Amino acid sequence: MNANRRPLLGAMEFSELPPWRRVFINRNLRMESIAAIGFDMDHTLAVYQTDCFNELCFDMARERLAKAKGYPAEIGEVAYDPAAAIRGLIVDKRLGNLLKVDTYNYVSRVRHGVRFLDREARRSAYKRGRILIGSRRYRVFDTLFDLPEGSLYAALVDLKDQRPDLSFPSYRTLYDDIRETVDTLHADGSLKARITADLDRFFVTDPDLGPTLQKLRNAGKRLFLLTNSEPDYTAAVMHHLLADGGPWEEIFDLVICSARKPGFFIAQGKGRSVGRDPCPHLANRSSNCFTGGDSFFLESKLGHYGDAILYFGDHTFGDILRSKKSVGWRTAMIVPEVGHEVESLWPRRGDLHRLAEVEDRLEELVLERDRIQNGTAGSGVGGDASGDAALVSRLQQEIAAALSRRAVLQKRLKVGFNPYWESLFKEGRSASRFGRQVQEFACIYTSCVSNFLAYPVTKFFARPAEILPHERWALP
Ligand code: IMP
Ligand code: MG
Repeated sequence: MNANRRPLLGAMEFSELPPWRRVFINRNLRMESIAAIGFDMDHTLAVYQTDCFNELCFDMARERLAKAKGYPAEIGEVAYDPAAAIRGLIVDKRLGNLLKVDTYNYVSRVRHGVRFLDREARRSAYKRGRILIGSRRYRVFDTLFDLPEGSLYAALVDLKDQRPDLSFPSYRTLYDDIRETVDTLHADGSLKARITADLDRFFVTDPDLGPTLQKLRNAGKRLFLLTNSEPDYTAAVMHHLLADGGPWEEIFDLVICSARKPGFFIAQGKGRSVGRDPCPHLANRSSNCFTGGDSFFLESKLGHYGDAILYFGDHTFGDILRSKKSVGWRTAMIVPEVGHEVESLWPRRGDLHRLAEVEDRLEELVLERDRIQNGTAGSGVGGDASGDAALVSRLQQEIAAALSRRAVLQKRLKVGFNPYWESLFKEGRSASRFGRQVQEFACIYTSCVSNFLAYPVTKFFARPAEILPHERWALP
């Protein structure tokens, strides 16, 4: 949603909640069993205007590459493409490619610079089909913060290929330089200085956020904020997001900044109380505000442990996978993209049903054709050969018509997805790697935190029954 203000959900009944604002359930979650609820800040409570933020990061990185690393001045001419990268993509540093992989890590799409490899080129580049994602050759985009560097890498790979006269390093060094530059921009405060100077421009204002947190608090849940952002930046952003509801720190029983997730979920030691001086917005409850520490420290401060804690985060690895696997917290993943995808599919839901019908029909037609062609139709031996040939030809025509109808429907259903990579969650007919990770590690997922405002605080989020392939025949 690009609008700076979202509609108020406060007065909305759950039944009126649009599908793209619903909470989706992978594992049963009984809210009554949850005593403490934690929130990551960036891209979880704080929803960035991603295009503005990503373009700023792209521009600053490009400038710094030229100034600090001696890249040719021509890199100033490459343009930011907001669609160039999505989460879950993998950088292949050796070949200069961006990859989308399916559930089983099979490479399904390859973009080199600004063009996609055809099937043959893809197969020749990735002979085994499947890649070893843990190796140093690859890097996964786990967070929305990674997207500007995806766009910059694609643009500079293209420039390097197009202009052999310019001095560029190898594809691998090019990516490492971009990564290091973006890392420094985050860490040295230069990116954050630009953001805090114009918070309205960089964040979506969500009037439902404060009431959502308040509702959970009023229900007796202990709330905490657990962010990798530094105290000053956290204070400035949280103050901006919750400015209408009094001092923001009072909503939380505990605030931990500079948490160094995912390391936070593996012992690091006690947190250090944040002093008043460096962060004026943290003055109210400074005894409950800390930097660093680890999950043991956090749990002992809260007095709640393991699966009595629900944590909201956006980072597949740093927030969701680690908190679930290492300390057994329940997890709620914030995935703004799910809102965009469901919203764009909703007006086309008729096409979704039609596609399912066409696919079922196709299967029947192909079965029937093969049955006749293999001579198992009708009376078998001594059957009517010319009648069979006519039947096969008619079936063939019907199959061709169904295939083209399927292609039309598939194309219509892609409108609204990323023009290059299509769905974040799917690849072809199966889940993408990202989609599978969400399924595997997030107990629940939704497009933004304030969607919870429309749900009762005692809600039992019950997962829908899973339909296995051998049960599909029983569906209406
Ligand atoms: P969180 O999502 O609230 O835990 O915080 C994310 C923090 O990580 C923000 O302060 C970001 O600026 C910071 N961050 C994101 N990407 C990078 C990076 O590549 N290097 C260093 N810091 C980063
Ligand atoms: Mg985050």
